[in-house]
Amino acid sequence: MVVAYNRIWQVAFRGTQTDSPRRKHIARGLLMLLPIFLAALLEFAAYTDPINWAMYANIEWFILLYPLLDEEINGWEYLFRAVVAGAFWLWQHDLSNPNIRSLGLATILVFALVWPFREKVHYSWWLDTPAALFMAFFFWHAQARVNGVLEFGPIMTFMLVNQFAFSYWTRVHRLDLHKRELERRANFDALTNARSYSLFQRDVTAGFAKAQTTDVPLTIVMLDIDHFKEVNDQYGHLAGNKVLVGVATLLDDILQEAFGDAHQLYRTGGEEFNLIFVGKSVATIMPVIKRAWRQVRDQSFNYDGREIRVTISVGVTAMRADDQKVDDVYKRADDNLYRSKRAGRDTITVEGETLSFCEERLGGVSYTYFTQPVVSASSGEIISQELLLRVFDQQQGRWRLPDHFDISSSTQVNLMRRVLSQLDTDALTINLTAAQFANEEVAYALLEFAMREPRLRQLTVDVTRLPASEVTRNVCAIYRSGGIAVAIDDVGDANSLSEVMAVITEVDELKLTFRLVMSTYSVEQQQANVESWRDLANEYGKMFTLEGIECDWQEKMARTVGVRRLHGYLFGKPELPEIN
Ligand code: GH3
Ligand code: MG
Ligand code: MG
Repeated sequence: MVVAYNRIWQVAFRGTQTDSPRRKHIARGLLMLLPIFLAALLEFAAYTDPINWAMYANIEWFILLYPLLDEEINGWEYLFRAVVAGAFWLWQHDLSNPNIRSLGLATILVFALVWPFREKVHYSWWLDTPAALFMAFFFWHAQARVNGVLEFGPIMTFMLVNQFAFSYWTRVHRLDLHKRELERRANFDALTNARSYSLFQRDVTAGFAKAQTTDVPLTIVMLDIDHFKEVNDQYGHLAGNKVLVGVATLLDDILQEAFGDAHQLYRTGGEEFNLIFVGKSVATIMPVIKRAWRQVRDQSFNYDGREIRVTISVGVTAMRADDQKVDDVYKRADDNLYRSKRAGRDTITVEGETLSFCEERLGGVSYTYFTQPVVSASSGEIISQELLLRVFDQQQGRWRLPDHFDISSSTQVNLMRRVLSQLDTDALTINLTAAQFANEEVAYALLEFAMREPRLRQLTVDVTRLPASEVTRNVCAIYRSGGIAVAIDDVGDANSLSEVMAVITEVDELKLTFRLVMSTYSVEQQQANVESWRDLANEYGKMFTLEGIECDWQEKMARTVGVRRLHGYLFGKPELPEIN
């Protein structure tokens, strides 16, 4: 009975996800009926073999009691078992005697007491044995046909049977726990607790088969952390692990919130994760994927007091009618992920289309950087690419100057990454408004980008308008700590001589714009102006750039005066960089 009971119990409570719920329900019902059926058989045996009635009654009592200790049963199931066992007790005893009635009440009290602790009683010898002893004693002491020392025999028999069942169940229980632990270890990654690669293969194959036969959509998402090797290199492997766990947890939370238990997160490589959605189209999951992408990049992971930030690249694809095998879908997801990487990372590619996120983050406004070179007067080589912000005008269908330049540093960083993946350059110059420049957070964000981005050798920030000199000094110190150069734009005009003088020791470069001095002064006066700024730059050992050069005579003058860095339409108009 114990062995058969255990088999059915396994089906009812330990079946795999794929077992039909109906099978489980039937097994659960059987668990309640089997003891009653056996008790009825034994009762029949007692009827035909009345001399041994006590032995039969003893075993009946046991098989009606033991299922009370079942794990996982609910309150109703327990109540049903308790009522059946209680009914048997009543039937076996003469209730006219008040002493016997109180023993019956004591039995019911034990039922009530055991309910909250049944699992403990089940597997702890020190609880199970006294509980069994009470049940046996109440039963046999109240039995009018067995008295005095004769009670001892059936009680001992009961305890022996109980001991056997206890040992058997504890062993089964231990094996069960062990098996589940092994399964967990095989199916779940120990570090991030995401599902394992082997489980991914199993599930994606099953999902593919289901999608093929039933026509439900199958969508696969592949995610990979960007430049993760650098996180390891810069902060150490343990920090890398912490970030991995953090990213996995974040992804899991977002999926849990959106899809409940139906979602699956798999760790399929070192810093690569996969998601499988059976029955969900790309359109359904995209808002969630975007949210996940954004939250990862917005989150900072703390390790040892340091804030680590990472971004992810994502590839999304859905199964198509002409996909022959699951690898066809998998390969497409991989291709899309690769496209995201190629497009500068930190983005999502859906079915070959790489999303432009600056657009989406800024509520439908799409920004880009045009580039314009700063060239060396001596060699004509490009020293740096200056980045000029443009916004896409939906109505006119073209890029134009934006109404304001105060975009977030993450957008700046994104746009810079895009330029780096589009142009063969390793030196960038960006313009900051006074507010952006005064903001230390912007400085730190750019610093982190400059230090983490391997394609970038030199970043220069141009201050279009200097904030208070105190502020400038502070911020320059931050930029300098990360090797970012600071240039004062438009000296003599937007930034007056006295303002420049107050902070000149803190910055790296002065930039004078030709266009502004041209209209009001003669050529000689302009040359004198250029020379005086050049001298100032030289005196303090700062770089000097002449901007706004549009025609030959301006270039000639620049060379005469000995300016080494030139910039303007003559050397290249602001252009939208093309993907190379
Ligand atoms: P990309 O943006 O192209 O994906 O660059 P990447 O550096 O993230 O990718 P790459 O595949 O070159 O390097 C992955 C790195 O992930 C290499 C390995 O050191 C690291 N890594 C893999 N598994 C673990 C892990 O469990 N813990 C830690 N800390 N690092 C891991
Ligand atoms: Mg990576
Ligand atoms: Mg990788």
